[in-house]
Amino acid sequence: RDVQDRWPAKDLLKGAAREKSSMTRDKASRVLVAGGAGFIGSHLIDALLAGGARVTCLDNLETGRHANLDHLRKEPRFDFIEADLVDPLPKLPRFDRIFNLACPASPPHYQADPIHTMMTSVIGTHRLLELTRDADARFLQASTSEVYGDPEIHPQKECYWGNVNPTGPRACYDEGKRAAETLVFDFERVHGTDIRVARIFNTYGARMRADDGRVVSNVICQALSGTDITIYGDGSQTRSFCYVSDLVEGLMRLMGAEASPGGPVNLGNPSEITVEELVEHVVRLTGTASRLVTRPLPVDDPRRRRPDIARAKALLGWSPKIGLEAGLEAAIAWFSKEITPPPSVRSR
Ligand code: NAD
Ligand code: UDP
Repeated sequence: RDVQDRWPAKDLLKGAAREKSSMTRDKASRVLVAGGAGFIGSHLIDALLAGGARVTCLDNLETGRHANLDHLRKEPRFDFIEADLVDPLPKLPRFDRIFNLACPASPPHYQADPIHTMMTSVIGTHRLLELTRDADARFLQASTSEVYGDPEIHPQKECYWGNVNPTGPRACYDEGKRAAETLVFDFERVHGTDIRVARIFNTYGARMRADDGRVVSNVICQALSGTDITIYGDGSQTRSFCYVSDLVEGLMRLMGAEASPGGPVNLGNPSEITVEELVEHVVRLTGTASRLVTRPLPVDDPRRRRPDIARAKALLGWSPKIGLEAGLEAAIAWFSKEITPPPSVRSR
């Protein structure tokens, strides 16, 4: 029942044709990026500015950092507002496009204050949707593959309704994002708001924090500093890792598409590997002497994950370009500058 495909390919192709004309019109937009001081948001801001937009970043700096935006200090088309989306919004100018990326994304970070995480997704998304509706603007929600939970359907298509534990420690994030999607599609149905929903799969790259806690940053930082590499469970669980520049290109295309895609769109790299294989790649690329140690698998950790990106391909002409090897090399170069390894590792 829940895997029935509700978006036939002929509709997707019509959308792709309409999308072309919109990319140029978007150039002069005034854009709000909520969560823009974070890892993905700061790269998105760079891409928007490069395309000619004027950009405001709104962020509470919970997991984001000024350092991610330092290079824009003298950019006249950029400004920063420190604010928490859970609180009433400060007075804001009118925007043409609103991206909502605000929400901690790493399990240890979103579980540190789970109630605030849930409220960020529900109250925060509601506030931004009202702003979008009142300005007759266009809205893009950064949703997540976590809406599929521990999936029983593989790979995951957008029409799969998911398998999420609503009461577990991941629920503040997963159910918050699911509730946010509900709000987004209700604004479309009730108010006719122009909306887009990107279901983002595991993304990595430069500007991730060394203390982010997700597997790519943990493993690379452990390898570079010569400390034990932590594999949760037996390492046979899978993920599909997308490099950040590919993801940002997908977000730009989704926001730029003239016609609403009529449902969520998966954005991610369909190349699936086990955590153990990821660790092997990092060990080889860094030449580390770190030991591999196992830790208990976190509660409700999804067993496998891979996006079906047929909709993104057909609608947006998008697919990822950066392979895992090149992406990991770029991430390793980033973390090498972020952390200072002990002398024994440095001299190797
Ligand atoms: P991130 O933690 O680096 O960025 C999130 C940003 O949101 C931070 O700058 C943080 O300070 C800000 N923020 C959090 N709560 C806020 C609030 N209440 N008010 C204002 N700002 C707030 O994470 P990221 O990896 O860059 O993820 C960005 C978005 O993409 C998130 O919404 C996340 O759920 C989504 N996403 C990311 C991934 C991934 O693999 N990176 C995967 C799926 C979905
Ligand atoms: N993981 C791991 N070692 C770590 C951090 C994470 O083995 O140091 C595992 C984690 O249990 C999960 C996978 O790597 O199975 C991806 O975890 P991450 O937190 O990066 O993303 P998510 O679970 O949200 O997809």
